[in-house]
Amino acid sequence: MFTCSSCQKSFSRKDNLIRHLKNACKKVICNSSATKDLVEDFLTIIDNKADEFAEKDSGWILLNLLFLEININKFNPLRASSFIQLPPEITQRQAVVNIRNNDDYCFAWYVVAALHPPTGVDFQTSSNPHYSTVLNTTGIDFPITLRH
Ligand SMILES: [Zn+2]
Repeated sequence: MFTCSSCQKSFSRKDNLIRHLKNACKKVICNSSATKDLVEDFLTIIDNKADEFAEKDSGWILLNLLFLEININKFNPLRASSFIQLPPEITQRQAVVNIRNNDDYCFAWYVVAALHPPTGVDFQTSSNPHYSTVLNTTGIDFPITLRH
């Protein structure tokens, strides 16, 4: 059994834990000052794990860490794009419209969906009028940026 140190979720296979760490259990920091708190959180987790291990009468103690690697990547959650498959936890609630467009016109497709509310759970672009027949998109660059 493999357990995520951050959220305590358990996995039967190591590769499932690695996939979880790379996708679902990321830590998001919004400014550089939060990096120090994040590193302290990691060290607390390691310290607690070392204490837990010592309490099991192993006779082993953690003297020092020789190497700790933390990968930090730029996170851009508001990047517009085409269809993205949502996790089942979200789609099963049937509370989110997620249109299967394969172009950069997602904003236009969603405006049309607001005007012509879709039914069902699988939202195809063919279910509604084409955005170009409903909206005048002249002068608008797609995908829409936050400037608009
Ligand atoms: Zn986790």
